[in-house]
Amino acid sequence: MTDVSQMTIEQLEAAIRACTLCALYKGRIQAVPGEGPVNADIMFIGEGPGFHEDRQGRPFVGAAGQFLEELLASINLTRQQVYIANVVKCRPPGNRDPLPDELSACAPYLDRQIEIIRPKVIVTLGRFSMARFFPGASISKIHGQPKRVGNVLVVPMFHPAAALHQPKWRPVVEADFKKLPGFITEAASFGEQKPPPQAQQLSLF
Ligand code: URA
Repeated sequence: MTDVSQMTIEQLEAAIRACTLCALYKGRIQAVPGEGPVNADIMFIGEGPGFHEDRQGRPFVGAAGQFLEELLASINLTRQQVYIANVVKCRPPGNRDPLPDELSACAPYLDRQIEIIRPKVIVTLGRFSMARFFPGASISKIHGQPKRVGNVLVVPMFHPAAALHQPKWRPVVEADFKKLPGFITEAASFGEQKPPPQAQQLSLF
């Protein structure tokens, strides 16, 4: 694989758009690197592009994206203020779950995005991004509960699409979102302190 570890965000996006590291490139219309300001405080990590994302080359532009924007508005944020990425950058056929080899082929891209953006808070949306930080955990048990990893607070949340399909999760997602401003404030002080000894460093992602 091309070494992504020194790439700028523009170089990384170009590498993702041209990527052929797993078979997903064969079925894509466009890869979806992610988008947002490089100095964003919050980074959202979803699963992978769906139908609309594959056409537009942008993350979260379908129904789940509309809901994500509503959730952001509820805490006075717009999507232009946050970084939005996915664990896989190309659409799995028929929106099936990403396969292990697809996840591992794409992982260095997300690692480099996290290194460049250096968010204060990472919100994982759904199972696959949660599994990167909370292996083996169950979303219904840990949603909304942050874990400090280095100087970042990682917050697992339900995927907005899950809340659209299962209305009982909607108030849960809404309540979890309301906690985010407090987590940003909390994480803002981390850079000034030494990380606790049990915290893993970002380089382990
Ligand atoms: N669902 C995701 O996980 N990511 C997107 O970009 C869109 C829908």
